Amino acid sequence: MLERVLQEIRARHRFVVTSHARPDGDGIGSALACGQILRMMGKDAKVVMHDGVPRIYQNLPFADGVIQADTIPADPGDGAVILLECDSIRRTLLEGLENCFLINIDHHASGRNFAHINWIDSNVMATAELVFRLARLACVPVDRDIATCLYTALMTDTGSFMFEGTNEHTFTVARELVLAGADPAHCARHIYFGHSTAKLRLLGAALSNLHREGPLAWIWVTQEQMQGFGAREEDCEGLVNYALSMADVQVAIFFRELPDQRYRISLRSKGEVNVSAVAEHFGGGGHKCASGCSLDGPLDVAVSRIVDRLRAEPCAQNL
Ligand code: 5GP
Repeated sequence: MLERVLQEIRARHRFVVTSHARPDGDGIGSALACGQILRMMGKDAKVVMHDGVPRIYQNLPFADGVIQADTIPADPGDGAVILLECDSIRRTLLEGLENCFLINIDHHASGRNFAHINWIDSNVMATAELVFRLARLACVPVDRDIATCLYTALMTDTGSFMFEGTNEHTFTVARELVLAGADPAHCARHIYFGHSTAKLRLLGAALSNLHREGPLAWIWVTQEQMQGFGAREEDCEGLVNYALSMADVQVAIFFRELPDQRYRISLRSKGEVNVSAVAEHFGGGGHKCASGCSLDGPLDVAVSRIVDRLRAEPCAQNL
């Protein structure tokens, strides 16, 4: 399928590259690298994101060229839109994609064949690795800037090389990116030491709501708390990992109240429980150890629906 993707890229000139709304490190890093790879192939490429670039990724190369929009700026005509890390057009929250030629590049096991060309490989830890392969097959030299974007994507989607599935191949890819110029300490500094004060205050509030039932732990934040601290959606990224960090907790859940009183839910597992199955049951998706979905409130109803569903998973009988 990689050959087919490259063939379609070679045949076209204008591209829009995008990822899902509320982009994470893999969404942003892969999109920035992909845009630059296309430009180095002589193409016209714009990176367009519904939510722009979250603060901790704003130091990445090419981040200042990202267009924040609700609609793709112009129909790329005979070109194409490349969607990275998305299981549907809807995940981008961008309007105007329906009539475009779509290329879907994803690594989620819950990925779907919604586009004209679908390259989904759930064996890799990050979409960044697929973008790296694309650059290689296209004979585009991966320079320091591209390597920095791809390394950051890989580092974040593997939870700093800690998530299940990280293996020697992951480190081979990381090594190649470091050899190409990515500086691991520099990449890590912006991501792990670049948080806002609001995020830390929100973390405090979330942890004061910590609820634990045996191997399950959950935390939540309300709209009122977010507004009180001046926190943004992106400040919620990663909070769930604090609940997972306790010994003997197998699954952690983070509930974020939305302005319409629905809840955004992040699920994380240490590996024994497949949280993707739970998220998919509620119309979301993700990976075995990291997934997400949305549910109606109130909070106690959302909590019991998720917890009951988790306990119903065949691999979760002891939860
Ligand atoms: P997070 O909890 O950080 O929002 O998401 C964790 C993982 O689940 C990411 O890989 C993300 O792409 C995926 N994910 C989160 N929410 C959704 C959703 O609503 N639909 C799908 N398909 N994937 C999701």
